[in-house]
Amino acid sequence: MRRKAKRARRNSRAIPAKHRYAWLYAQPESHTSYETALLKSIVAGHASGGVSKHALMLYSLMANTTPSMRALNYRHGIAVGRSLHQLYAQKRSYALYEEGVDDLVSFFELAGYGRITYHAFPNMIRIGMHDTLHLDLGMNTHLFEAGMIAGFLTASKGQLMQVTERACSSNSADSCEFYSSSSAQDTSEFAVKGAFDAFVEDVSRHVLRAEKQNNPSIANEYYALSSLVLLDNRYFHEIRAIADYLGGRLATELGIESMTPRRMFNTVEKSVELLNMGIAKIKTSSKFDITLQFSTLHSRKEFADLSIAFLHGLLRNAAKDTGMKVKCLIHRNTYSVRLSKSKPIKGVR
Ligand SMILES: [Zn+2]
Repeated sequence: MRRKAKRARRNSRAIPAKHRYAWLYAQPESHTSYETALLKSIVAGHASGGVSKHALMLYSLMANTTPSMRALNYRHGIAVGRSLHQLYAQKRSYALYEEGVDDLVSFFELAGYGRITYHAFPNMIRIGMHDTLHLDLGMNTHLFEAGMIAGFLTASKGQLMQVTERACSSNSADSCEFYSSSSAQDTSEFAVKGAFDAFVEDVSRHVLRAEKQNNPSIANEYYALSSLVLLDNRYFHEIRAIADYLGGRLATELGIESMTPRRMFNTVEKSVELLNMGIAKIKTSSKFDITLQFSTLHSRKEFADLSIAFLHGLLRNAAKDTGMKVKCLIHRNTYSVRLSKSKPIKGVR
């Protein structure tokens, strides 16, 4: 059993050299029709509602955890960028490849990215995003966006274009700056633990702040599009463990264990709302019941699983202290996390 797991892990890392650039020439395959539907809705200006920048950052951090995840995240962006180019190319033809950059930039604006500036030259393209989340995590986080720009440019130029995020608002810069480049995106190891810590501290500050939370701004469709990479079955187990870990870290940061039940419920509701983990309905009867409801776009089982893992982490220690046990239940389309009495473990009061 153990040997099998080890082999699966090893396989997930190996990408044969001969396949390395195959994705550039092949038609995008996975999730294609779903992806196209999401892209179409953003391009048409019909994108729905809004997701907080913190929620987008949470998924982005999880997708940037290891060098191989980062490489996958960049490649996912490339596939989406190519599909986007295909959508625009049906409506108009670009005489010069840099003409398309205007459409690409409008797309990011429609997706909720706010102010964007750009320079398009025959040999170099620079795109600056000024309204991304300003939060110092010590690492550049917008690999998916870099990939999207690279995919779009590659499709419009008909030759390989790489894009690097040279400055990032998650790495003490004023804006995120993307440049076309000849070399591949850097996928080296980052101090992920430090980035997680800084993120959790900021989320905690937002949740505990008395005033109303920040206005959501990212389109639901874009959020769904960028997070599809988390569903890759080579990494899903790890991603779920990371969601659980981050929930636990946030619980410690918030000091959930020492809160009164009412304040704890309120804090859980606010955290779930800020991080777009569904809508939490909490029933405070004899048991502590949390029912999570998901919008249609996020009702895929895997996203619900990630939310449940996160909540599980968030409540685990609080439950331990009261002799309760966290149980996660999925019944039809309702997902619930329930704290219930469990038999005390020997030696633990
Ligand atoms: Zn950035």
